[in-house]
Amino acid sequence: MVGAGPNGLVAAITLAQAGWNVTVLEAASTPGGGMRSQELTLPDFVHDVCSAVHPLAVASPAFRELFADETAARRHGLAWLHPEVPLAHPLDGGGAALLHRSVETTAAGLGVDASAYQRLVQPFVDAGLDLTDGLLAPLNVPPAHPIHLARFGLHGVWSARGLARRRFDTDEAQALFAGLAAHSILSLRAPITAGYGLMLGTLAHSVGWPVAQGGSQRIADALVSVLESHGGRVECDHRVGSLRELPPSDVTLLDVTPRQLLNLAGDELPSRYRRSLERFRYGPGVFKLDWALDGPIPWTNPEIARAATVHLGGTLDEIVQAEDIVQQGRHAEQPFVLLAQQSVVDPDRAPAGSHTAWGYCHVPNGSAVDMTGRIEAQVERFAPGFRDRILARHSMNTAAMERHGENYVGGDINGGVADLRQYLIRPTLGLHPWTTPLDGVYLCSSSTPPGGGVHGMCGLHAANEVLRAHR
Ligand SMILES: Cc1cc2nc3c(=O)[nH]c(=O)nc-3n(C[C@H](O)[C@H](O)[C@H](O)COP(=O)(O)OP(=O)(O)OC[C@H]3O[C@@H](n4cnc5c(N)ncnc54)[C@H](O)[C@@H]3O)c2cc1C
Repeated sequence: MVGAGPNGLVAAITLAQAGWNVTVLEAASTPGGGMRSQELTLPDFVHDVCSAVHPLAVASPAFRELFADETAARRHGLAWLHPEVPLAHPLDGGGAALLHRSVETTAAGLGVDASAYQRLVQPFVDAGLDLTDGLLAPLNVPPAHPIHLARFGLHGVWSARGLARRRFDTDEAQALFAGLAAHSILSLRAPITAGYGLMLGTLAHSVGWPVAQGGSQRIADALVSVLESHGGRVECDHRVGSLRELPPSDVTLLDVTPRQLLNLAGDELPSRYRRSLERFRYGPGVFKLDWALDGPIPWTNPEIARAATVHLGGTLDEIVQAEDIVQQGRHAEQPFVLLAQQSVVDPDRAPAGSHTAWGYCHVPNGSAVDMTGRIEAQVERFAPGFRDRILARHSMNTAAMERHGENYVGGDINGGVADLRQYLIRPTLGLHPWTTPLDGVYLCSSSTPPGGGVHGMCGLHAANEVLRAHR
């Protein structure tokens, strides 16, 4: 196995559980890929370098299998901490949309859109994890719950802008939906962006949007602990430069994206497959900030302090415009900012009375522009006095992101654009996209279905392909 990200580790565990002898070679000095935490700013302030908020991990069939209940997770050092409110979206003038665990309570805060919200979301929440399982399942097996998926598809296939405008009248409901859909890093005018919004919104109700106690690194450490309990091992500080360097093995799984596969395999790949990998598209990058704060963020609307995740960007139209600008290869003056205030729910992330915060915005792939001022202006817009609370900050542009993790090509955190085309053709067309033309070599990163996020499902599907081939 090359790469100890969530997908690499889940694939490694799946094979080790099946009795295989597994070694994971990881370039970084700590395992985890996008699940690492570090004291990026000041001593005793723990920051999530990449992922921070984990609805996908909690809902993922792969994680549910490994950590069947709270006790099983704690045995491996993992505990999910749920904020009072999964997500908040402040608006100018002190208003806000709050996404609560309860659909009813959320709807009650959306004025005249209350029943429209409930009608849209409740059936998906009622479908529960059967729906999530279907959405994360491989496309090459018949769905276990086709009715749930068909209903989801009818709404999810649209653009987020179209669906929000058709369904909702209030700024609150429209903006809430836009913020959820903007996690897709696509133009909100694009097909299937409604699907991303619906899935993430549904998960907020059905499983919550928790953070990992002590930092996302604990998820990585828990996966390594499970792997070791099945006899597997991770070797850090071992970068693989070419497939030829690898020790002999029956099978090699690569937690890398198409561009790296091209480099690792050299001219061993058949030219047709090589050309399809070369056509694979990477999406916009991110510019990220982490802050050490001497107190909580002074939100104008105090309700925002109850959420661990906050979407900053104003109304639907503003967010649509900000994301369109990025798609056009430019930088938004008022970017859409995804912010997490982990220490609100996990006080041990910072010394007593102090706090941590994490935030990023989308930028063109490979951007070198410093977005610090524009991101902080968006926070200040809804929390005047925020800048005065900053003790220290740490920034990462797209190049720093790629240095931290090779899979974040040009700062793309999803392992490739996840539009309709690359949702279906990921990274190449076929019913078994985890296989490669090289004998015994498989891809298992987020550049394979079902795509980005900490859920390990790409790894699980790839490992299942291996087990099927060697049955
Ligand atoms: C800033 C940021 C914020 C994010 N926020 C969230 C969030 O809140 N919630 C969420 O669910 N997801 C989030 N994500 C996305 C999530 O982290 C990724 O989708 C996920 O980590 C992808 O998993 P992976 O296993 O495919 O790849 P990665 O996690 O990137 O792991 C790949 C691993 O392979 C190693 N590797 C690569 N090439 C080699 C080589 N040649 N030799 C040896 N090792 C190699 C890398 O060092 C890395 O450890 C975020 C990502 C970023 C960057």
